Amino acid sequence: MILEWIVPLLAGWLSGWVVNYFSDVLPITRRFSKPVCLECGAPIGAGEYLFFRKCPNGHARPARVWITQVISAALSLYLFFNPPLKIGYWAGLLLLTYFGIVIVIDMEHKLILHPTSIAGSILALALGLSAHGLGTTLSGGLTGLLVMLAFYYFGALFARLRAKRMRAQGLEADDEEALGQGDVILVTILGLLVGGPTLTLVMIVLSILLGGLVSFLMIVGLMLSRRYDENAMMMFIPFGPYFVFGAGIIVYFPEALKSILPG
Ligand SMILES: [Zn+2]
Repeated sequence: MILEWIVPLLAGWLSGWVVNYFSDVLPITRRFSKPVCLECGAPIGAGEYLFFRKCPNGHARPARVWITQVISAALSLYLFFNPPLKIGYWAGLLLLTYFGIVIVIDMEHKLILHPTSIAGSILALALGLSAHGLGTTLSGGLTGLLVMLAFYYFGALFARLRAKRMRAQGLEADDEEALGQGDVILVTILGLLVGGPTLTLVMIVLSILLGGLVSFLMIVGLMLSRRYDENAMMMFIPFGPYFVFGAGIIVYFPEALKSILPG
């Protein structure tokens, strides 16, 4: 019984380690590189890094490191006993590692990086092809791309109108785009993965509902603590994690989907 748990726990721990490593180095160097302390930039030796030791100047690793390790090990254990039917445990864990990197970097840096997207598209294409064939894979990716391009241009138009209105009021305008190109690429990748127009649209709707729910709870929280103002509302919210959650439900919890979708 306990022996059965060792492989998924170790594999999950390793997956968490990989997520932490790429989340530490990719935003800084965009490639494989020696890890540095996120507080002071001092290089950390491989041995110290592997065992989560402090940097030479005594800075501890961020709390995210431990949260990621524990969540990865727990999810890996869950996956091991409930492997996704179409792709199985190991591919499922690899996909989870990619999801983790996207979520952590988007939450910490509000960025979806190209190296992550390139690796993700290769993975999604391979998993999509083996799970549901060429036509379904490509039509899923195309649906994601077209829907997100529509959102992207609509968002850009909205941002331009808002900047114009702010300048008219004598305020300094920020040209911040709500939805970035990284989000468009991400949803295209996730479309390849879930496959087909229907599931891709379901994924996008799930993500929007989830994002709406979280934003609503945040507004209620801010209002209750009397810190709500319009600027807080306009804070840039990273969308990447919601899209990943939407795709994650479809890939890992298809039964949950069947209970909400008619037919
Ligand atoms: Zn340091």
